[in-house]
Amino acid sequence: MKTQVAIIGAGPSGLLLGQLLHRQGIDNVIVERRSGEYVLSRIRAGVLEQGMVDLLREAGVDQRMDEEGLPHEGFELVFDNRRVRVALDELTGGSKVMVYGQTEVTRDLMEARAAAGATTLYEAENVQPHDLDSDSPYLTFEHNGETIRLECDYIAGCDGYHGVSRQSIPQERIKEFEKVYPFGWLGVLSDTPPVSDELIYASHERGFSLCSMRSATRSRYYLQVPLDEKVEDWSDERFWEELKRRLPDDVAAKLVTGPSIEKSIAPLRSYVVEPMQYGRLFLVGDAAHIVPPTGAKGLNLAASDVNTLYRLMVKVYQEGRTDLIERYSQTCLKRIWKAERFSWWMTSMLHNFSDEEDFNSRMQLAELDYVTSSKAGMTTIAENYVGLPYESLE
Ligand SMILES: Cc1cc2nc3c(=O)[nH]c(=O)nc-3n(C[C@H](O)[C@H](O)[C@H](O)COP(=O)(O)OP(=O)(O)OC[C@H]3O[C@@H](n4cnc5c(N)ncnc54)[C@H](O)[C@@H]3O)c2cc1C
Repeated sequence: MKTQVAIIGAGPSGLLLGQLLHRQGIDNVIVERRSGEYVLSRIRAGVLEQGMVDLLREAGVDQRMDEEGLPHEGFELVFDNRRVRVALDELTGGSKVMVYGQTEVTRDLMEARAAAGATTLYEAENVQPHDLDSDSPYLTFEHNGETIRLECDYIAGCDGYHGVSRQSIPQERIKEFEKVYPFGWLGVLSDTPPVSDELIYASHERGFSLCSMRSATRSRYYLQVPLDEKVEDWSDERFWEELKRRLPDDVAAKLVTGPSIEKSIAPLRSYVVEPMQYGRLFLVGDAAHIVPPTGAKGLNLAASDVNTLYRLMVKVYQEGRTDLIERYSQTCLKRIWKAERFSWWMTSMLHNFSDEEDFNSRMQLAELDYVTSSKAGMTTIAENYVGLPYESLE
């Protein structure tokens, strides 16, 4: 089997890259470990930056997003019994974000790929990249009981944090940077109307909480919990009670509760690997970096890596410009470190790091008070939240 770009992983990175390349006539095959249904069952991100929205348009998957997505022009910060609105559009000269679930983005991309007749091999086992530092790399894997060799020009490692791509790079050729936070997020998805039209990020002495949504009838709420907390110990009643305690009274009074349709705990970490390429292998999205979800950056960073690799591949196949390939990692990392900084900063400012009122908690309050009372501070939050511009290749 032969293709131009072999893509490992059919998450949002792999599917978006595949669709963009396909529309430019660049042949690609996606090899995914799980089934399509399993990929679609993962409940994850939901806030899309303008850059990602534009990229989805370029990929031709904007119809349902435009019909069902919710454009948001602001969000709220809650601290010290105060509610402060961050007016994204006013502070950034008109930029906003789109609330549209990762599951829906994935579904749209899967359907577009199927309609285009491009190949995705689901339930591929033991995917292994080979000869990455040669001119003719290839993948091997088992599919439907057959061992397959997929020859290609380039390999895109879009296989997430636990994937095989990053592990295929010799350890001495990469450097990893990591910060693990001493808490996780307990998330609940419910078919209840959101408590507010806009997202609410709330700092509280009992811990951080986030009121988010996927649509006008489906809510996503999160609570900061200790790392050793077990999801079985959180009945729906306990979750709703705790959420109400962490919200201002007027918000809590409006909260519509109901049965959860998904409940899970995700640990929070910041992680970056450098460089993001080795020979003809490129790491894309979560395979190369993780952010805590506080700034809504994980999925959006994956999209900006896709944008860079896609434009590089177009230069290679349409203009013969192989000289730009070496710049992939440095181009992506410039933007990644800024998003890592924003996510770390929001996490540090809004979460509870100690049960005691201490120096750190006073610093958090002072910082929130300062940034929300300063036009410069509010602009900093807004321009990072809507997404910094994509880096150019040249
Ligand atoms: C629980 C959770 C909650 C999250 N919540 C948010 C949020 O609220 N906001 C936000 O912005 N971001 C959030 N994120 C991050 C966001 O979902 C990710 O950044 C995004 O999914 C990255 O997309 P990706 O395609 O790079 O990786 P993934 O979505 O991880 O996709 C990787 C794909 O590769 C496949 N794969 C893995 N290994 C192999 C292999 N060896 N062979 C073949 N295929 C393989 C996987 O099955 C998967 O389909 C969350 C992440 C998690 C885990």
